[in-house]
Amino acid sequence: MFAEILTIGDELLTGNTVDSNSAFIAQKLTERGYWVRRKTTVGDDVEEIKKVIHEILDRKPEVLIISGGLGPTHDDVTMLAVAEALGKNLTLCEPCIERIKAFYERLYKEGYIDDPKLNEGRKKMAYLPEGAVPLENTEGAAPGALIEHGGVKIFVLPGMPREMKAMLEKEVLPRLGERKFIQRKLLAEITDESKLAPILIETLERFEVRIHSSPKGFGKYIGIIIFGESEEEIEKAKAFMEERGIRFEEGW
Ligand code: ATP
Ligand code: MG
Repeated sequence: MFAEILTIGDELLTGNTVDSNSAFIAQKLTERGYWVRRKTTVGDDVEEIKKVIHEILDRKPEVLIISGGLGPTHDDVTMLAVAEALGKNLTLCEPCIERIKAFYERLYKEGYIDDPKLNEGRKKMAYLPEGAVPLENTEGAAPGALIEHGGVKIFVLPGMPREMKAMLEKEVLPRLGERKFIQRKLLAEITDESKLAPILIETLERFEVRIHSSPKGFGKYIGIIIFGESEEEIEKAKAFMEERGIRFEEGW
């Protein structure tokens, strides 16, 4: 099960905002058993977004998660770019417009804004690619979207971390099925990575696992993570490395 992540926003490319969304999404997908093969970031530019979506779809991931650029301003062009990339029109989502209306009326009543009426910017957020399933935004105005295209599930989420996280948890993860992939974090008692390297190669040849090693500076321990589809396979890989002389401690 492989997945890709696309984060969108000029502020991510200038370094003004650190792309914490892609790390959060990657963590959640990995926990669910997905192998995140690539993360890509582009600016708020329709042509650039379309190009990168085509490249990603050519690699045929099961899941593509896109985040950023759903807001009311002129530079929020993600839905338009997604629609154009898939050869679809943007169409008005009626239930979305009702929710957006209710959202701004609530902000008005609570005294956060001085006008609850639907203006062009607010209406713009209710346009989704034709055939998309709207995803509810419990923390903000802009709905997300799910589009199934050529076997790829494409989820489009807002960029505001609070909104993105809520939508990911409530609307995306429940649609991604059961967890099949497990990760185990271990500390290997060995002084440097080069000694571990040949043992890792042997282990990877024998077992259906992936191993990520993460040196913590020279010293006593190296952090490793074993990824696999079952506890047994991970346990077998661990036992094999122990036979080769590595002592492990759990977690790091
Ligand atoms: P809305 O404006 O309705 O919240 P949006 O999807 O248009 O939705 P953006 O304009 O992309 O939101 O970003 C809103 C805020 O979230 C900005 O402050 C931005 O810096 C931050 N943000 C966007 N993308 C990321 C990201 N990948 N990681 C961390 N913060 C992000
Ligand atoms: Mg933006």
